Amino acid sequence: MDIDLRSDTVTRPTAAMRQAMMAAPLGDDVLGDEPTVQALELKVAALLGKEAALFTPSGTMANQLAIRCHTEHGDEIIAHAESHIIHYETGSPAALSGCMIRPLTGARGQFDADSVRAAVRGSDIHSPRSRLLVLENTQNRAGGTVWPLDAAQRVATAAQELGLAVHLDGARLFNASIAAGYSAASFASIADTVSVCFSKGLGAPVGSALCGPAPLIARARRFRKMFGGGMRQSGLLAAACIHALDHHLERLAEDHANARRLAALLHGIPGTHLEPGPDGIDTNMVFFTIDPSLGTAAEVCTRMAAAGVRMIPMGANRIRAVTHLDVDRAAIEQAAAIARSLLTRRAP
Ligand SMILES: *Cc1c(COP(=O)(O)O)cnc(C)c1O
Repeated sequence: MDIDLRSDTVTRPTAAMRQAMMAAPLGDDVLGDEPTVQALELKVAALLGKEAALFTPSGTMANQLAIRCHTEHGDEIIAHAESHIIHYETGSPAALSGCMIRPLTGARGQFDADSVRAAVRGSDIHSPRSRLLVLENTQNRAGGTVWPLDAAQRVATAAQELGLAVHLDGARLFNASIAAGYSAASFASIADTVSVCFSKGLGAPVGSALCGPAPLIARARRFRKMFGGGMRQSGLLAAACIHALDHHLERLAEDHANARRLAALLHGIPGTHLEPGPDGIDTNMVFFTIDPSLGTAAEVCTRMAAAGVRMIPMGANRIRAVTHLDVDRAAIEQAAAIARSLLTRRAP
């Protein structure tokens, strides 16, 4: 079988997870009596130290519900230029909430409090209203990088002092928490709302959650229905997410160790360059560039796929590999060996 390193979303439910799904008591969540969804919402709200939570079909919907709740049309969101809400959510802040986004730059997908203060606009009638700061942890496009808690706290406080709300795109917050050694709740405490994904490294087939103050989550529940995200016997999915929280949290450390191992092995291949370096892997993502003499990233990924290893081209010569529940250490060693044999041969 292919060693699939395209994303940590490719995991399939384990046998134990499928059993938990089959055993779950079910109701109708739109009618308000889905016991397993309610159990998940209570559990994740408690885990993140928030008053309430809402189960959503995707992380995109959780982020977009947060944006819809925090903003009005014409408002401006401040976010890093590499953020998921800019690159991978199909323009939905504009389409669904009528917002523009002010991109900030900075290494590792991070920025400082002064950049936030400089970006927040005054009350001049010409200007859009700065309303929301969105932080992403881990930061996907910058390499699965982890925000230090104190740095993120300073940034969030700067925004809140200027009257902005703060949303945390925590699709991989649990990876950050395991890697940095802070609790997910302590990091979530700097933000008003936080989204988390169960369908990434945690290994559930579907599902994310938005957590925050109860009145905001009640509004988000209406917008979820408006966006077409009202689900019925969704306890079937929520059971998988509960199982994932109970059994797949601590093991994220294995994915991180496997990513470091993969980076170290790729680092030795002539013509490949690890970003930010073989020792700079924070979590489960490995980004590397390849010399043009080896072919484009798309060509190399096609050749690797034919040899049984799947990665994703992320630019002309940039490739991403992500470790997860369905690839063990042996598969990582094998993937690196295949990459080495392909890349040390000349491109055809
Ligand atoms: C995956 C991801 C999301 C949500 O993606 P969906 O595919 O919509 O679940 C949001 N933010 C980040 C940073 C992500 O990596």
